[in-house]
This record gives sequence, C-alpha cells and structure tokens, in this order.
Amino acid sequence: MESYKITKHKHDAIVIGAGGSGLRATMGLAQSKHSVACISKVFPTRSHTVAAQGGISGALGNMGEDDWRWHMYDTVKGSDWLGDQDSIEYMCKNAVESIIELEHFGVPFSRTEEGKIYQRPFGGMTTEYGKGIAQRTCAAADRTGHAILHTLYTQSLKNDVDFFIEYFVIDLVYQDDKCVGVLAWCLDDGTIHLFQSHIVILATGGYGRAYLSSTSAHTCTGDGNGMILRSGFPLQDMEFIQFHPTGIYGAGCLITEGARGEGGYLTNSDGERFMPKYAPNAKDLASRDVVSRAMQIEINEGRGVGEDKDHVLLHLEHLDDEIVHTKLPGIAETAKIFSGVDATKEPIPVIPTVHYNMGGTPTNFNTEVLADGAGRVVNGLMAIGEAACVSVHGANRLGSNSLLDLIVFGRSAAERACEILDKKSKNHVEVNPSSLDKILSRFDKIRNSSGDIRTAELRDKMQRAMQRYAPVYRDEETLQNGIDIMKNNFNDFNNLSVSDKSLIWNTDLVESLELNNLLYQSLATLYSAYNRTESRGSHAREDYPDRDDNDWLKHTMVWVDEKGESKFDYKPVELKTLTDEVETVALKARTY
Ligand SMILES: Cc1cc2nc3c(=O)[nH]c(=O)nc-3n(C[C@H](O)[C@H](O)[C@H](O)COP(=O)(O)OP(=O)(O)OC[C@H]3O[C@@H](n4cnc5c(N)ncnc54)[C@H](O)[C@@H]3O)c2cc1C
Repeated sequence: MESYKITKHKHDAIVIGAGGSGLRATMGLAQSKHSVACISKVFPTRSHTVAAQGGISGALGNMGEDDWRWHMYDTVKGSDWLGDQDSIEYMCKNAVESIIELEHFGVPFSRTEEGKIYQRPFGGMTTEYGKGIAQRTCAAADRTGHAILHTLYTQSLKNDVDFFIEYFVIDLVYQDDKCVGVLAWCLDDGTIHLFQSHIVILATGGYGRAYLSSTSAHTCTGDGNGMILRSGFPLQDMEFIQFHPTGIYGAGCLITEGARGEGGYLTNSDGERFMPKYAPNAKDLASRDVVSRAMQIEINEGRGVGEDKDHVLLHLEHLDDEIVHTKLPGIAETAKIFSGVDATKEPIPVIPTVHYNMGGTPTNFNTEVLADGAGRVVNGLMAIGEAACVSVHGANRLGSNSLLDLIVFGRSAAERACEILDKKSKNHVEVNPSSLDKILSRFDKIRNSSGDIRTAELRDKMQRAMQRYAPVYRDEETLQNGIDIMKNNFNDFNNLSVSDKSLIWNTDLVESLELNNLLYQSLATLYSAYNRTESRGSHAREDYPDRDDNDWLKHTMVWVDEKGESKFDYKPVELKTLTDEVETVALKARTY
C-alpha cells in the first residue's frame, strides 16, 4: 500500500454534510463557544436540499385554523403507525417556532395578502384529525429548498465555521468503541486528512441513486449509511422507500406535490380522474404511497397512457396561468425542458419515481446513533436528515415533513451536542494508527482496482436490479431474485476496474467509493423487504397484502457485513408520546 501523508485537524464537533440538516446543525454549534468543522463533498448550496420544491410543513394556521396536534395525528397515521411518537411529537410541536426562526434568518417565503407566510395543502395533511384539508405547507414558490439552503449557508458563514468543501469523507474513525473523527480525501489537491472531534454528526443525505429512476441528485449515494454498516452498526427500516407519484416520465425529475396542492389532478388512458376511486376523501392529495400504488394499479390493469401504456397524466392546464407562473414557475420550466410540454396547455406525463428513504441510521429522538435494537448509544456519533432514521416518517413520509425534520432535528442535534461537549474535557485522544491503516488500505485497494468491470457498468447493473426487484409492489420471489443478483453485484465490486489512479479530481474513484456505499444499502433494502412479511406504508407485499400489527409493529435493524451477509434485530415502535398532552391524539391515530 502507498504510504499516505495525513494532515491533522482538531475540532470539538464535525458535521459531515452541508444540506439543510447539516447546515442547521453547523449553524447551531457555531453560535455556541465550541469549534465546528463542516465537511462536504459538494459546494454547500449544491446539496440535494436545494432541489426541494413544495415546501415545509408547520401548523402556523396562516390560511385557516390549524393545530400541531392535528399535524402530529397526520404524521402518525401517514407513517402507517411505524413512526416513533416521541420524535413525531417533538417535531410537530417545534415546527412553528423553527419556521418562524427561518423567516427571521431571511428565508424569502411566498406571502398571503396580509403579508403572512403562504401555506398550501399537501398530501395527507388534514384538520381536526382527518376531517378537513389543512393548508400547512409553507412555500417559497416551488423553490423552497433553494431558499432555505442559501439562507442557512449565509447564516453559517456569518458565524465562525471551518468549511472543508469538496472533501470526500471515506470512513469514520473509532477508538475504544467511541467515534473520534473521520478520514477524508481533499478532491482538489489529493491530500488525505484526519479530522478529530468529540462529536461527529452525520448529515449525508439519502441513497436514491441506488435506483435507475430517481428524483434525487447524482450525489445522493448515502455515504454516511455505508460508513455505518462498515463500522459494524445496523441501519433501520431500509425496506421503506418512497415512490413519489409524479416523476416526469422518462427523465425522473420531480413535479412537486404542490402541483396537486394547487388543484392539479391525474387521469388514465380513458381520461378518467381515477384517484377518487382509491381515496374518496383526499383524492389526488392522498398520501404518496396511496397515490403511487393507485397509479401502478391503473398501469398494470392496462389503463396507462402512451405507446407502452406505462404512465399516466398530470393536469395543470385547467389552472389559471397566473397560478402556474407565480406558484409553480419551476414546474412549468421542468415540464418544458424534460417532457417538452407547456403545462398551461397540455398534461404532463408522469410515473411513480423513487424519491425518499424513510430508513437510515437509527437514532433516538436526541439524534444520537443507536448500536442495536435495545437502544444502546454509539458514543460520539449523531445522525440527522435523510441519512438518519429518528423515525418521524415511519413507513411513509408525508410531503413537506422532510424539510421540517432537517430543521427541527438539525437544531436539536446542535443543542444536544453542546450539552455533551460542555461535560467533556477538551483533550483529543491519540488515534491508534492501525484504525487509520484499515481505512486507507480499503481506499488504496479501490483506487488500484484492476479488474474487468467499469464502475459505471456495475452501477447500471445495480440500479436496474433495484428498479426491477425492489419496486412499488414486491413479493417473495421477486425479492429473492433481487437478493441473488445484488449479491453478485456486491461481490463484483472486487473485480472493479478503476482506470484513473491519480488523487486529484479523480471522479472515477469518487464514483467507485459512492458505488460501494450504494451496494451495501441496496442489499440492506432487499434483505429487509424480503424479511418483512406484511404490507405497511410504502412497503407493499403482494403476497402479504395486510398490515400485521401483531408481528410487525416494530422497526427492522439490519446489518450487512463485508461479505454481503445480513443479520437482523428489531426495535419496538415508540408508542408513548413525550407529554400527556397528546396521549389521546396518539391513541386516536392508532385506533383509526
Ligand atoms: C427533487 C426533490 C424535491 C424535494 N422536495 C421536498 C419538499 O418540497 N419538501 C420536503 O419536505 N422535502 C422535499 N424533498 C426531500 C428533502 O429535500 C430531502 O430529504 C432533504 O433535503 C435531505 O437533506 P439532508 O440535509 O439530509 O441531505 P442533502 O441535502 O442530500 O445533503 C447531503 C450532504 O452530505 C454531503 N455528503 C454526502 N456524502 C459525503 C461524503 N462522503 N463526504 C462529504 N460530504 C458528503 C453532501 O455534500 C451534502 O452536502 C425533496 C427531495 C427531492 C430529491
């Protein structure tokens, strides 16, 4: 192995990731007396959060009566009862304050006539425990993520943060079972860096790119989750992958649910508006799992549109042009570029597309990473955002609840980290060279791979397999085939060919490291989906069509080792809320 020179850095806390969750945590830490570094493989404002369109939920009640308890009820129900109710209560209760805080930081929200933050209806968001439709999703036109991310970045710059931009974190460094930092590669000059800290916060986002058709950015490769599995810790609820009903047919780009929130609706090849058949009350604004499944049934039963009858249509052309141009300008542009359609005149061709990972690194509601189903905390390690599974989304996330999750738990992670840091000595441990050697030898091995399969080729095989064998509807046979194929893909990584051996802007090597992370998570998803013999939320098993609370009201914890073998444990769903105040709400949701 080549001997790599290592540059050392010491901070109280490190945040890996500069998306909405990472920047919110970074900002919180920077406002304290603790030193903080934020490391990101892309420039912060290019993180996937920038693409979030529709908005961020919170019971502000600006456009009609609202209550955070109703929001909590919707989230528990939307999660198909798999969400942890302590975390959900914390998130919904803290939503209003967190959004007002964003407004004060400078997020340019759209406004009502009276100058209040504009709020639109979103799927699954109701008033009075399911009776009416709530207008709860705060929006900055259809570019809400863009507005939030840029604001958080400028606020972080105002404070004293050490940003390490275009540094790729390879793996986590441990000493005596405690996470003591990370090893990273600077893409620009090829140097290797050890970042030591008392706390590491993973905010590395989701792994949508395991699939062929996904709304996620190409950088969404779930690197943090890959690191967790390689550390010998489990991931949680990986079987739950959200398909967004309206990805543009062929391109995968997202058309926000806000489009249906503003009055858009879906039709099949008979021109029939089919959602009222499946969800008589919420219709086109039913939760995403319900709409995606309905679309898939329409297509499977031969009522899809187009030559291959494999998609359906989203109509916005009946809306006032003014609404499309002011409330949905990005959508109009996306539809034009990616499907050649003028949304004010013709319907947009759409298909369910992979959009969000409910599963990820397990944490308690304080965002501390868990090592097993019994809730043992991994010292020094926290996780937030889409990378984490604090389990506010359970088996299915409601639209606009992710941006809220980022902001609420980003902030609370910073608060919890400060509490822990206040009790710690400032001295850093002397890192054992053997733990660094192990990480570097894996890095070196991948860099010098001289097998037969190009990275892009293996990635394509993986993405096609996931698309085909872990789709909206699954059954035992499909999943078993998927596991067999994916195990081969996993092992083929040892036969990779990386042609660029340099260390400077080596995108071949970056993509190979990302692919390795994706392969681990793809296996974790297939194993978990095979293992869960019920249907719940986004996990629809054709051979087990019903929800089975007797056996499966529990979280999956899955380990995948370096040979691609799995191990399972389970964690009970937290059905107790934090305060008595909402005890009745939780019960109501459960018995719905
Ligand atoms: C098209 C689209 C639209 C969406 N719209 C909405 C919406 O309207 N409302 C809503 O609530 N949710 C929405 N979502 C979901 C939501 O935007 C995401 O779940 C959320 O933004 C994820 O944020 P994050 O902070 O977890 O990570 P990300 O924003 O994905 O950022 C990940 C960060 O980690 C860094 N990173 C990753 N790996 C490494 C590594 N190895 N080394 C160094 N750095 C690394 C990256 O550089 C990046 O900074 C949308 C998602 C998509 C894809």
